[in-house]
Amino acid sequence: MFDYHVHSKISADSKMEMKDACQTAIENGVKEIAFTEHIDYFYPNCELVFDFEYHEYEKSIREVEELFKGQLTVLKAVEIGIHPYSNKQSKEFTDRHFFDFILGSVHIVDDLDLHNGDYFKNKNVDEAIKLYFETINRYVKDYKDFNVLSHFTLIKRYLHFVNSHWKEVKWEKYFDVIEDTFKSLIGSSRGIEVNMSGYRYRLDCALPELPFLKLYRHLGGEIITVGTDAHSKHFVGKYLNTGYKLLDEAGFKYVTTFKEKKPDFHSIKEMI
Ligand SMILES: [Zn+2]
Ligand SMILES: [Zn+2]
Repeated sequence: MFDYHVHSKISADSKMEMKDACQTAIENGVKEIAFTEHIDYFYPNCELVFDFEYHEYEKSIREVEELFKGQLTVLKAVEIGIHPYSNKQSKEFTDRHFFDFILGSVHIVDDLDLHNGDYFKNKNVDEAIKLYFETINRYVKDYKDFNVLSHFTLIKRYLHFVNSHWKEVKWEKYFDVIEDTFKSLIGSSRGIEVNMSGYRYRLDCALPELPFLKLYRHLGGEIITVGTDAHSKHFVGKYLNTGYKLLDEAGFKYVTTFKEKKPDFHSIKEMI
């Protein structure tokens, strides 16, 4: 198994030691781990600074590579927060430093944070979801310097701010703009992620869920990674199997890994 979304203490919102993450990964049958640390240069109303010193990161990676040699492949990766105000600076960062894999994420919509609820003030459920998908659509067309779009449908985590739950939403309503987003990603050799954090947030679903995965597959999407988005060792490697089963159900034969930003494909059947 491959955990393609993990945050060590290099990320501002995690305290996890890389070696603890690696140890848990091995215990849970993970063969490859990608430390996707946060770079999010535009993050309003937040005390955390989502930036890191690359050389410190590289040093930590080297240490765990040495420690777990022959047991675990460790990838240099990053989770870039996409936003028009910071895209130039983000691109400079990823151009300047070596990464095997780049996740692109949208955490800020309408210049407001989804996570602290600011985004949901003065919006109803439909407005919030519609603008979320439209914004991602625009952002992935404007900014292409990443391999895989992370946690599509992240908004599901925060619908309690508008007194709703993802199970109450008719997601098909937004499929036109979603289809266009997927086409744009596919057309530029980028992919999507199956993010298993929904299970941690008691949503009991992956981000995104089966209908979205089927649509992506139907449109010809092949590049797809699975990651836990673990910020603590309890979640490293968890639910990856559920993710692979979802992929299988959606009609995928392969899960994607990366090396030097080049995709490689592994049979799912061997892992479920
Ligand atoms: Zn994220
Ligand atoms: Zn993340």
